[in-house]
Amino acid sequence: MTDPADLAERVRGGDLRLHELEEHADPETAAAARRHLLETETDADLETIGDFSFSAGDADPNVENMIGGAQLPMGVAGPIPINENEEGGSGAAEGEYYLPLATSEGALVASVNRGCSVIRSAGGANARVTKSGMTRAPVFRVSGIAEAAEVVEWVEENTEALREAAEETTSHGELLDVTPYVVGDNVFLRFRFDSKDAMGMNMVTIATQAACDLIEDETTASLVALSGNLCSDKKPAAINAIEGRGRSVTADVTIPREVVEERLHTTPEAIAEANTRKNLIGSAKAGALGFNAHAANTVAAAFLATGQDAAQVVEGANAITTAEVKDGDLYASLSIASLEVGTVGGGTKLPTQTEALDVVGLRGGGDPPGSNADALAEVIATGALAGELSLLAALASRHLSSAHEELGR
Ligand code: NAP
Repeated sequence: MTDPADLAERVRGGDLRLHELEEHADPETAAAARRHLLETETDADLETIGDFSFSAGDADPNVENMIGGAQLPMGVAGPIPINENEEGGSGAAEGEYYLPLATSEGALVASVNRGCSVIRSAGGANARVTKSGMTRAPVFRVSGIAEAAEVVEWVEENTEALREAAEETTSHGELLDVTPYVVGDNVFLRFRFDSKDAMGMNMVTIATQAACDLIEDETTASLVALSGNLCSDKKPAAINAIEGRGRSVTADVTIPREVVEERLHTTPEAIAEANTRKNLIGSAKAGALGFNAHAANTVAAAFLATGQDAAQVVEGANAITTAEVKDGDLYASLSIASLEVGTVGGGTKLPTQTEALDVVGLRGGGDPPGSNADALAEVIATGALAGELSLLAALASRHLSSAHEELGR
């Protein structure tokens, strides 16, 4: 077997480059060689980073220059009860779910778990994906507005041909629509796909490239960038908050007044007032895209646990929380406009994350395709609603700083 120390020495001597180690050793040895190099070149001791439980080869499609595993504590919240409605209809999620949450923020899992327990006492939440579609928006150069108008007309008249070209690259993805945006001599085309159980960014990018090739063949437009930022991926953008991206999903619950009083130690009125003044007015005054208390907390922890793309928490924070008193009880909802989740592909295939998806009961492709990712979106939204309820209640009953003192410090 190749000695990691010898490999590290060859990298130091310039004989090998850091990213070439897998060409000379198995993935475990290559990672060990990089750790050796770092330990001799820095003051770091990488014993814990090197003590990971999956095989380095399993992470090959997910990372380059691997040195080990970043391990985070993982907790669990739940069960989270998601109902059928009275007519027997339901979203993709139905029944009781445990939601694994990976975080370093003390009090977060306790907060979500308290909210789940309140939702259980209220008889369960409802959750629905209301819109779905992953987007990619290339930007084309044209000579001016006259040519831009011609290109847009061609795209509108040839959507079927674009669909055929795009769908040749995937057996699951389906082109839903193409929305044009013109700015001077720039034409942006926002392609939206049903990516089924995949979050879809790779799938949709490859399919959009095929459609762009056809546009360049048939029109005068010249592709400048396959992503023109109107998509909009991993950046705060109103288009996602308004039009949605990935799954647009809402969870809601009606909590009887006595449950609010006994379990949350406050009143429906106090929670509704805290929500209006903080999440609605405060967020409006701040010019925020997210009108919620801390939805990104649950989204981020669920993303890390289940292998979603962590950078897309940016879009997962586009969420509006409502709370109002109805017939004396508390009605609360959380609507996440752009929750980008998958149960196949990307980081969902990593061993730890696969186990976490098994805990939710939503690993791999659904039957029908897309139903597992829909259900995961509904479970995460309901978990995030639980977190909203718990934090709003803590604020309304002024418990926030004491909970953090007891649990997080
Ligand atoms: P992927 O791992 O690249 O591809 C998933 C593939 O799984 C699909 O393309 C599909 O193959 C197949 N599949 C099998 N069963 C399926 C089912 N039930 N539903 C849907 N697909 C099914 O994953 P991805 O979701 O497209 O992309 C996610 C990755 O993209 C993440 O690693 C993320 O970090 C990365 N990412 C990429 C970009 C980019 O610009 N390329 C941007 C952001 C993030 P077929 O298509 O052949 O049917």
